[in-house]
Amino acid sequence: MLGRYAFKIRVTLETPAGAGPPPSILVVEDEVGLGRLIGRVLNEEGYEARLETRGDSGLAAALSEPPAALILDVALPVLGGLEVCRTLRQRGLRIPVLMLTARDSLMDRVAGLDAGADDYLVKPFAFEELLARLRALLRRGVVEPDRIGVGDLVIDAGSHRVWRGDREIALSALEYRLLEVLVRHAGWVLTRQQLLDHAWGYDAAHASNIVDTYIHYLRRKIGDTARTRLIHTVRSVGYTMRTR
Ligand code: CA
Repeated sequence: MLGRYAFKIRVTLETPAGAGPPPSILVVEDEVGLGRLIGRVLNEEGYEARLETRGDSGLAAALSEPPAALILDVALPVLGGLEVCRTLRQRGLRIPVLMLTARDSLMDRVAGLDAGADDYLVKPFAFEELLARLRALLRRGVVEPDRIGVGDLVIDAGSHRVWRGDREIALSALEYRLLEVLVRHAGWVLTRQQLLDHAWGYDAAHASNIVDTYIHYLRRKIGDTARTRLIHTVRSVGYTMRTR
């Protein structure tokens, strides 16, 4: 069965999506052997692959932790691929979706595009083709604008995840909001009041030293040291985020 898939991998040294953590790709495919093979190929290309084998679990995985792109089989148990795709779009998820169809049927293709898929691939396919389509989808940048970075720190404004280098950093909701404001305004000096307004989000009755307290937490969590500092204090004004 798997022998039908041309297994000739060109080893590329380019990173799939530039700097930052490896883009995570969710594969929803009920042919477990094929799913694992796709996963392995993606890993070798520098992606982080997750595999689900049913439509309903694939949908749940995509909603709870949105991947950079979704590779979605059409014929799946419990919930079909078209339904998964439609539901994702209804929930406002704009991640690129590459559908895998069993045959080159015009109806499948039209239905896939109507359900909100971005592209499709007919089985059996060559992995090089899969990778090329995936790169094209990621380059279109449906999700990329959500990823913003300063130095080696990257935030994903869609999923509220944060990385420094390869390390993912867990933040509270408030810490995340504070960090996002700083990252979005990198290079600008923000006053404590501006940070309060943005991160706390109401006419904050807090003393401005709460900002200092949270900046302290953030610096510790993102591993700011004298040598790697990203959050800089601007004396008697506030804070700024920059690499130097
Ligand atoms: Ca299937």
